Amino acid sequence: MKTLLNKILKECRPYIKQGRLASYIPELLKADKKEFGICVVSADSMDFAGDYDKKFTMQSVIKPLILLMALMDNGEEPVRQLVGVESTGKPFDAFNYSDLALKREHINPMINTGAIALCSLIKGIDYRKRFDRLLELTRKLSGNPELEVDEQVYASEKLTGNKNRALAYMLKAYGMLEDNVEDVLDCYFRGCSIKASAVDLANIALVFANGGIDVKTGEYMFDKKYARYVNAVLMTCGMYDGSGEFALNVGVPAKSGVGGGIMAVVPGRMGIGLYSPALDSKGNSIAGIKALELLSRELDLSIF
Ligand code: GLN
Repeated sequence: MKTLLNKILKECRPYIKQGRLASYIPELLKADKKEFGICVVSADSMDFAGDYDKKFTMQSVIKPLILLMALMDNGEEPVRQLVGVESTGKPFDAFNYSDLALKREHINPMINTGAIALCSLIKGIDYRKRFDRLLELTRKLSGNPELEVDEQVYASEKLTGNKNRALAYMLKAYGMLEDNVEDVLDCYFRGCSIKASAVDLANIALVFANGGIDVKTGEYMFDKKYARYVNAVLMTCGMYDGSGEFALNVGVPAKSGVGGGIMAVVPGRMGIGLYSPALDSKGNSIAGIKALELLSRELDLSIF
């Protein structure tokens, strides 16, 4: 496996040139485009290659965990009432809603609008406490108690995140968000700024791959029906308006982030974490997707 992973990184490295670092969050421009790492973990093995232990901010890879926490705190019905599950076919931060009113059918948990709305379903006496619970869950699923927020990236996004502010106010305007917009966004921005490595993402993915059970310890982390919910949404919406191509070429539930991370869930088999910060036009790691395509072909990972 290790030889295969090294071979894949070598073959996919040329794609990095075609990608670009995310620039709309200024701090993300400090990433090193050349970094490229992968980790594959199953019940009884872990293999990695390249910059597998390099830390980057999770960005949208936190969205499945926001969804999971909303499900764990409320059950399925309130989550379904607030945010739909249909793929939008639009960029992750789009706000060109053509209908007269924003409705749940227009949004899903993997685009910014949906993830911001779902932060309001996380329980806690204030939004700082809600974020602390989200961080705690992320630490637990990754098995890494040391995960922390990258304060520079957090400050950078908070300062410049006016598109997300507009999306949150739109939710409020249409009665889909009751709480104070800045408080809700603070939880979202902090969540996006949690620093993790490809190993952390692979470990989180493995729990989703095994229906909420940590196969390494046997610990029951969350209900299997929530793993099904999250995996299904990842399959159709996790790679934004690239989800169809990804389903065809890789064929597993996955989530990307503009920090360059991708977390891929191979149900019943393995969790995969990838890091390469050069992005394609849709905001997905360009070399990361190529690596997953090759890996899927080699190991016959597609669920279809
Ligand atoms: N924090 C980023 C944002 O809200 C996350 C987007 C992403 O990773 N696609 O814009």
